[in-house]
Formats: sequence, C-alpha cells, structure tokens
Amino acid sequence: MTDFVLPLPPTPSVAVASSTERFAVRRIFCVGRNYAAHVRELGNDERDPPFFFTKPADAVVDSGAEIPYPPLTANLHHEIELVAAIGKPGFRIPRDKALDHVWGYGVGIDLTRRDLQDEAKKMARPWDWSKAFDRSAPCGPLIPAAKSGHPQKGRIWLTVNGEARQDGDLSELIWPIADIVSACSEAVELQPGDLIFTGTPAGVGAVLAGDTMAGGVDGIGTIEITIGQPK
Ligand code: MN
Repeated sequence: MTDFVLPLPPTPSVAVASSTERFAVRRIFCVGRNYAAHVRELGNDERDPPFFFTKPADAVVDSGAEIPYPPLTANLHHEIELVAAIGKPGFRIPRDKALDHVWGYGVGIDLTRRDLQDEAKKMARPWDWSKAFDRSAPCGPLIPAAKSGHPQKGRIWLTVNGEARQDGDLSELIWPIADIVSACSEAVELQPGDLIFTGTPAGVGAVLAGDTMAGGVDGIGTIEITIGQPK
C-alpha cells in the first residue's frame, strides 16, 4: 500500500437513477458546437470535425444543488447537454462499436463564463478559465443504456425560472453519440468513468444569482440547479 502525505481526495461521482449506487467520474470531455440550427444536407462531408475541451472531474454537481455564482465573470451562461457516461475502455473505437462503450446517459449543464470565453477566443488563449471552473459541470442522475437505449432523437430543453430558453432535439446533433465517442477515442484512450458532454442546442443565455435552471432530455432524465450568491 502506498502511503500518502495528505488524506486522499474524495472520488467525484454522479447519481444513478433509481439506485443508491453512484457512478465514479474519471474525466470530463465536452464537445464544442454540435447542433445545426437548420437541417443539414445529407451526405455532407464538409462538416468540421468535432473538437473537444475538458473540465476537471470534481466539477460535477448533483441535480438539486445550489451553485454560488462563480468568480471572474459577469456573464455566466447555461448550456443544456446530453451526457454520455463511458463504461468500457477503448482506443480508436470504430463508429459501429462506439455505443458498446457507453454505460449510460444523463442530462448536464455546461456552465460557461461567456465573457472569459469571448476574450479567450479573441486572444487565441485556452478555454480553461471559461469552461473548467469549480462546479461547472452539473449532471443529473444517469440512466443505464440497458434501460434507456441509445438515444438518437428526443427533446432537449432548459428553462430559467420557468421560462423557456433552450428547446432542441437530439436529432439535430451534427455528430451523433457514436461519432463523438469514436472521435474522442482517437485523441485519448477512453476509460470507465469518463463523461462526455455532447454539445448544446441554440438558446444559450445568462443566469443570475437567484435563478433556477430546469432542463431535461426526453427518455433520459432531468436536472435542476439554482444559482446562489457569490462566495
Ligand atoms: Mn457546451
């Protein structure tokens, strides 16, 4: 047994629907732009390949939590996303095998400090400070794919204080789940516990202290998060 100079940090995890067990989180990968605002042309080979960024594993937050308004921003945005939870290791996974590696699905919110992201884009700097901050990856309970199946369509939505903000459909995903898992596994060896946030539909916008976000994906689950006063 290795001895450590400090106590081991807690294992980040997300809830599993209808279970007392939890899903231990290893890493969090997120896809950039992934919904077309219009119906895409069939057989279009000109799609930009998906690109990824990451969040720390301990950025996960359970549904029902209150998250303090984060520092360094005056423009905190919600991005409702389908989350795929990896259950089986894989490197260079072919598309037709990719869904075998998905243990389950959940609904997450990719919280984004949009003002820092705009600045990072302008200055050609990394996105970390805009995307990878404390509590930036709320994720609702996972449903095992054995129960939900692998979703290809279904409403994905988010309200703020009951008012509709985002309303899309998984069928609008430019890169479906299998392509995302396959593409991610080209860059890293995927491992059990990895989460992939799969991108957000149109309608992203700002939230303020006191706001409650509620969102969901039909057939997968829901999430509710309140923004509290800054620390
Ligand atoms: Mn996103």
